Amino acid sequence: MLGLMQDWPLLCHRIIDHAAIYHPERRIISRSVEGPIHTTTYPDVRARALKVAQRLDRDGVRLGDRVATLAWNTWRHLEAWYGILGVGAVYHTVNPRLFPDQIAWIINHAEDRVVITDLTFVPLLEKLADKLPSIERTIVLTDAAHMPATTLRNAVAYEDWIAETDGDFAWRQFDENTAAGMCYTSGTTGNPKGVLYSHRSNVLHAMMAALPDSKALSCRDVCLPVVPMFHANGWTLAFSAPMVGATLVLPGAKMDGASIYELLNTYKVTFTAAVPTVWLMLLQDLEKTGGRLPYLKRVVIGGSACPRAMTKVFQEVYGVEVIHAWGMTEMSPLGSLCTIKPDYAGLAGKAKLDLQQKQGHPPFGVEMKITDDSGRVLPWDGKTFGRLKVRGPAVARSYYKVEDDPVFEPDSFFDTGDVATIDRYGYMQVTDRSKDVIKSGGEWISSIDLENLAIGHPKVAEAAVIGVRHPKWDERPLLVVVLKSGQTATREELLAFMAGKVAKWWMPDDVVFVEEIPHTATGKIQKMALRERFRDYVLPTAVAAAE
Ligand code: AMP
Repeated sequence: MLGLMQDWPLLCHRIIDHAAIYHPERRIISRSVEGPIHTTTYPDVRARALKVAQRLDRDGVRLGDRVATLAWNTWRHLEAWYGILGVGAVYHTVNPRLFPDQIAWIINHAEDRVVITDLTFVPLLEKLADKLPSIERTIVLTDAAHMPATTLRNAVAYEDWIAETDGDFAWRQFDENTAAGMCYTSGTTGNPKGVLYSHRSNVLHAMMAALPDSKALSCRDVCLPVVPMFHANGWTLAFSAPMVGATLVLPGAKMDGASIYELLNTYKVTFTAAVPTVWLMLLQDLEKTGGRLPYLKRVVIGGSACPRAMTKVFQEVYGVEVIHAWGMTEMSPLGSLCTIKPDYAGLAGKAKLDLQQKQGHPPFGVEMKITDDSGRVLPWDGKTFGRLKVRGPAVARSYYKVEDDPVFEPDSFFDTGDVATIDRYGYMQVTDRSKDVIKSGGEWISSIDLENLAIGHPKVAEAAVIGVRHPKWDERPLLVVVLKSGQTATREELLAFMAGKVAKWWMPDDVVFVEEIPHTATGKIQKMALRERFRDYVLPTAVAAAE
């Protein structure tokens, strides 16, 4: 027997309808790519998104066609997303920080028909134009006054392009499982892989992400997504914020510490989210200027492990609660968040910081397990490491145009490639990517734990730990350090700082100081590049073992 409830497909553009009707007073404030601050409202975003949909329709863009966006977080990008969604096309966010050849590969693989770009990326697209045969038209997110002379095919200024429509358009109606968005993972090996979100998965995920033990977003929040919309579905904030009617503050192209600080305080931002590198810049700026954060209440930090020292400074110096989060492009992207369950409510000081190093527990809609290499389920004791596997309605079941990838297992679990522990209260802690784990004498050492520890040293700006070949133990940890500018330190000093804080056999066998640690396009440490660089590195302990 079927239920007798209405069939109301979960379509993404219904979110902007809701925001326009029930939250018309809330503002969307953007730092425009041209420079000045721009302010609009949800009804205006919706009205202009309808024009985008109408114009795409008139240009022959149909259900399922891919429309690429190479753009920062601004109101125009937001309008473009909803316009693309409302005509049944697929927004394909392209990460402009990828290598140009990778960008071309991704656009060709997705067979994008239209590119919507910020002014910033016009020169990049001009260089790639010959390699992008599927692109019929380029829309530059600006007005006629700022439109550059360009050789791009059928290029038009966004404001002119939508001005030719009257917005008298009805959103297209279709099944909620229709493709909505696309985002390629920045895999460190092989070609990038396309994740294809549906309207249903996006709407469900936006709800999951707004829950009290997720981001706890509401219409009383002023939300600043520093994480770009092109990184892992924009951490769903382009959906969650309008869904609850939160005020949005969008940073445009400027994500340096001073620019973010200015937005946080001018617009009384209460909630923000980004990767640790962004917060490193902000905290360094605050340390220099003596700035305070009187309005900010919560900061979500994820994408890479949030260093303990960062959590401590945010909470103890600035009074801002840190929510450590974990997720993946394949998961829409949220998988878990570290909010405090009653079982841990009594924790304070060091014990609370220990807990917050974990990536937390999943919201409804994410199932997790850890297994050994043979697929045997491992215990939730907070100690046993295993391969982390997940499933749920907003988790990918396949990559775009890739058949039978073994990461999608027959029981519908997705093997994340992360190695983790889970404790008895369901808190997950990532110890490594499975390919980064250090295997010493048959036991695993967590590089993330060691990096966290090293970064707690006041002179250390950034730290990475990799496994280096060892004649006796197979691999031993090598600590690679970037010092804060103007600082000097010795190997002994750092090792002494770490000693006693981890098991003795986890201690790095050596320390090297470098000018810079390489990062991926989404700000993660490129361990592969580091392993390559130190492939022939001879540890002092290796010499001793060989003698
Ligand atoms: P992406 O799809 O680019 O967001 O990358 C997903 C990967 O980033 C995950 O599989 C993890 O390896 C890593 N990651 C994301 N969040 C965290 C976190 N809080 N701590 C450690 N690693 C993380």
